[in-house]
Amino acid sequence: MKAHEGMYIGGAWRPAVGSDIIEVVNPADEQVIGQVPAGIADDVDAAVRAARAALPAWAATPPAERAARLTALRDVLVARKDEIAETVTAELGSPLPFSQGVHVGVPILVAGSYAELAATHAFEEKVGNSVVRQEPVGVVGAITPWNYPLHQIVAKVAPALAAGCTVVLKPAEDTPLTAQLFAEAVHEAGVPAGVFNLVTGLGPVAGQALAEHEGVDLVSFTGSTAVGRKIGATAGAAIKKVALELGGKSANVILPSADLAKAVGVGVANVMSNSGQTCSAWTRMLVHREQYDEAVELAAAAAAKYGDRIGPVVNAKQRERVQGYIDKGVSEGARLVVGGTEGPGERGYFVQPTVFADVNPEMTIAQEEIFGPVLSILRYEDEDDAVRIANGTVYGLAGAVWAGDDAEAAAFALRLETGQVDINGGRFNPRAPFGGYKQSGVGRELGAHGLAEYLQTKSLQFQER
Ligand code: NAP
Ligand code: MG
Repeated sequence: MKAHEGMYIGGAWRPAVGSDIIEVVNPADEQVIGQVPAGIADDVDAAVRAARAALPAWAATPPAERAARLTALRDVLVARKDEIAETVTAELGSPLPFSQGVHVGVPILVAGSYAELAATHAFEEKVGNSVVRQEPVGVVGAITPWNYPLHQIVAKVAPALAAGCTVVLKPAEDTPLTAQLFAEAVHEAGVPAGVFNLVTGLGPVAGQALAEHEGVDLVSFTGSTAVGRKIGATAGAAIKKVALELGGKSANVILPSADLAKAVGVGVANVMSNSGQTCSAWTRMLVHREQYDEAVELAAAAAAKYGDRIGPVVNAKQRERVQGYIDKGVSEGARLVVGGTEGPGERGYFVQPTVFADVNPEMTIAQEEIFGPVLSILRYEDEDDAVRIANGTVYGLAGAVWAGDDAEAAAFALRLETGQVDINGGRFNPRAPFGGYKQSGVGRELGAHGLAEYLQTKSLQFQER
């Protein structure tokens, strides 16, 4: 695609107020592939005004018509799927088949699910002598990360639009081209002017201006815990609704009765996919001491097979961060069984698939989110020990449990302090709520629970009912 020089505000591409630009780099070969404007507070202000102006009419639009626009949006994403996949690959570096299957496939499912929910959700119910209405919260400020560039946008914008909210989006600086493509798709889908607005820019400038703007009623943020904490504090001071999807350090717990080879194989694939840049990745594998050595061997073989088939990480800074964690793992005494800090080639921000064994629960690599293709394998003594280790971080976003049968795995899953658990490799459900316990966040995305984040209730009491 050709990058836009302006911001998508009030239904048109308008020149940016400032003159700063962001260069978009392909992390696989370090070439500049385009540039977009770096928005400032004035751009954000214009976008919020457009969103406010569009709010009354969109909020009053019948849900069936909002559903029709979301169906049209889903159809445009389908029609332009190749172009979107190529754009994600160009600016994120993920291998093209993964971009096609996941980076484009999942948002199409999610957009479709919200088209359906908008049409079928009961926005009004009777409770005794009251009518309880669910009304849109208002103008949404959405701030998204680069790791799943389109999914993170659709997971906020689709439910917001379904609810009758209007939106200003500030996407990640590393992946603005996918966001511009999304804005084109919204336009093509016939969504009225001002209902969706895009301001590209830097987090501490455009992102902060959006989070602080008085005209924003709800801030929905996905990204690091450090920035999320700041955004939560700002929203709290303004008594503003906030949704935070933050980091994770999820556990993949393999119980002794499980199919070990399958559990390890799927576990390694989960961590290596998207080069480890997945907030819900199962970056800690927990194995019973009697199966530990075998699991480490299986994981090492599985990871080595990935070799150069995984893409780069998103930028040079992320590569340095990840390499720093690998060094830290070695210096704290974990055993490096595959991978390491050496980049495999001269160009591109590649990190080798890396596996650590003999990782203790208190080591940095077992506690902090690495966001790279790095797996830590930990040993547990018994079930209580496994629960303690699994729950022993500040995070609680996702996880997995493997056992001989689903009932045993599910019983263990109930003891985990986390928002989502895959049972024996259960498959992704785009309508299941996703979000964190503890410091992994506030609120839920996807499905009816994701829609509820964008609604507030009003109750009307009648004499008789
Ligand atoms: P980040 O800084 O939290 O970025 C997320 C979004 O917030 C981006 O759009 C970013 O803009 C924006 N932002 C940054 N500072 C802001 C501020 N002061 N006010 C408002 N918005 C702000 O995350 P990152 O730097 O891209 O990645 C750092 C680490 O965060 C990763 O290594 C990983 O551990 C974690 N992370 C987690 C997720 C997740 O899904 N949970 C996703 C991405 C990253 P810019 O793009 O300009 O920075
Ligand atoms: Mg950042």
